[in-house]
Amino acid sequence: MITYLSTRGGEQSKTFIDVLLGGLASDGGLYIPNSWPELSGHELKALNGAPYADLARHVMAPFVGEDISPAAFRQILQDVYSRSHFNHACMAPLVQVGPNAWIMELFHGPTLAFKDYALQLLGRLFDHVLGERGERATIVGATSGDTGSAAIEACKGCANIDIFILHPKGRTSEVQRRQMTTVEADNVHNIALEGTFDDCQNIVKALFNDKRFREETNLSAVNSINWARIMAQIVYYVSASLALGGGERAVSFAVPTGNFGNVYAAYCAHKMGIPIKRLIIGSNRNDILTRFFEGGEMRSSSVEPSLSPSMDIQISSNFERYLCDLVGRDTASIAKLMNSFKEKGSFSIGADYMKEARSLFDAKRCSDEQTLQMMSACHAETGYMIDPHTAVGLFAGLQGHADPSVPLVALACAHPAKFPDAVEKATGVKPELPEHMADLFEREEFVNDIPNNQTKVADFIRANISK
Ligand SMILES: *Cc1c(COP(=O)(O)O)cnc(C)c1O
Repeated sequence: MITYLSTRGGEQSKTFIDVLLGGLASDGGLYIPNSWPELSGHELKALNGAPYADLARHVMAPFVGEDISPAAFRQILQDVYSRSHFNHACMAPLVQVGPNAWIMELFHGPTLAFKDYALQLLGRLFDHVLGERGERATIVGATSGDTGSAAIEACKGCANIDIFILHPKGRTSEVQRRQMTTVEADNVHNIALEGTFDDCQNIVKALFNDKRFREETNLSAVNSINWARIMAQIVYYVSASLALGGGERAVSFAVPTGNFGNVYAAYCAHKMGIPIKRLIIGSNRNDILTRFFEGGEMRSSSVEPSLSPSMDIQISSNFERYLCDLVGRDTASIAKLMNSFKEKGSFSIGADYMKEARSLFDAKRCSDEQTLQMMSACHAETGYMIDPHTAVGLFAGLQGHADPSVPLVALACAHPAKFPDAVEKATGVKPELPEHMADLFEREEFVNDIPNNQTKVADFIRANISK
């Protein structure tokens, strides 16, 4: 049976539900499975052509174990990965954009970005576990625009969850705000905070640090390092591998990368037996990972805005999970490296480790200008529009992909209509929102303006939790 441990060694033998509800380990580390379940060749053959929900069950069942009853898990997957939440029957379809280059579209969920593939499931799993225990939880989060809507969409139908999302008033794009505020559900509460994104984050942090408030509201978060999110993302890599190589022929993936969550899921698929030739990381000018793969040193620097804002980050948190495997699960040395990173803003690993890392991973950076060029070239050559994040990945993939006989799959992590200005600048064409969202600008908004004040926010949350 699979159990979970912290990358920093402070926790062992945790169950799936422990890590689902816990998020971050108590020693500051991230949870990883104690072993990698294998998808045998026989099993993969049988999965060729299976519906996405069935594939998802086969890939994820070993990680979930008996913590959730197999019948309930099956039902949840059938509900989540269906046309009622995703706008394409194939969930993660492939589109050809070059002789042996493909785009995997991961923007068919309710918020038009790949995070839906994991968060839709995470919301349902949370709700199921809370229901079994007769508990409720309050999810509170801060967003600069992008992640808030995916969390709201994930929780809106959940009977045992109330969700409160703070965004900085007047500082998100209109599409981003409307994706959050037009959701009509009794358990969804949008707070437009009269302040900046940092003010939003500080209030959320302070609420989590307030023990009384935390206990009174059973406070929880849907943060980006939850193992269940990684687990759900493994599925589409298996899906692409089956479609292009029957699970036998190797495929390379190009992944626009910020927090290293998405590309780490590809690594997990590889550990489970999916043949992968190269994993090519694309970064924008915030290139901490590319610098690491070039020079062997992880060193944070300041965050600069770019055309691909979801990758404007300083620290790739999920990298710690891969690093733990790389050093042979020597959790004590991970704790040391992470401490060094926190104190000095940098760490290095030995040449042998770098050699091994580079045997699977490659990393390329893509400037804003190159991003626009890539969007423009793809549109001119194939008529296909890609968003700026997808362009960063595709650019990196085409640069780092040495063997044309191996299929290259570049991940489309957002729909072009999410970033209309950059797409129009590059292609001269304004991307249209998909049909099911075409009336976004006519929908009614539900939002509460609240001053930049922790007590006022806490009072609002207390008053609006379902009883
Ligand atoms: C979150 C996000 C990314 C980065 O993914 P990570 O898992 O953080 O590496 C890239 N593109 C888009 C559109 C995103 O929303």
